[in-house]
Amino acid sequence: MTGEDPTEQQLDQEAAPEASPPKRGFLKRLTWVVGATFLALLICYVSLLVTSDGLQPDQREQVQKAIAVLEQQGFNREAFILKRLSVFRSTDNWWNRYIGHRDAYAATNFPFEVVTLYPEFFDVPVDDKERAAVLLHEAGHLMGDGEDAALESTWRRKQRLGWTVDRYHQTRVWDATEKLTRSRFPYMFQCGADGQSDCF
Ligand SMILES: [Zn+2]
Repeated sequence: MTGEDPTEQQLDQEAAPEASPPKRGFLKRLTWVVGATFLALLICYVSLLVTSDGLQPDQREQVQKAIAVLEQQGFNREAFILKRLSVFRSTDNWWNRYIGHRDAYAATNFPFEVVTLYPEFFDVPVDDKERAAVLLHEAGHLMGDGEDAALESTWRRKQRLGWTVDRYHQTRVWDATEKLTRSRFPYMFQCGADGQSDCF
């Protein structure tokens, strides 16, 4: 208000303190909402852990070796997320049981960063590098990637990981991953003399 009337000015000054309580009320509500959301997420997270089993010591060692491979090959962000932010389980939690899972080797609950590793993860890959390839895929999910994005980024970066056709083309993990990737991303397999070879 721009009025010169002193009573008007006084009214404005008096009105000012009354503007504060609604602001405090809003902050209080916001704090409550944030707190309640955090509590709900925490309960959900804990429920994922209590409804599943942890890894055996030898399984944990295999996971650590695979993460070490990722670190050696320069996948520092993925290694950090897997090593520091993720929790590994060996059996399905209620969420996995409810929705089922598509991946044969592992399932990831984003954004809770819970990774369930099935017996196939430990038995089928031929070495730590191949297990690292599976974890590279799961790291994609841990960062919010869907199935296609995780498949695509892993296939594109397999050379950097050292998971290459000359050494691994006869393994079960390679075979299954190639078939799946080829079916989802035909453009990646239009190279070579026959026009049907892997471009990456
Ligand atoms: Zn996946």
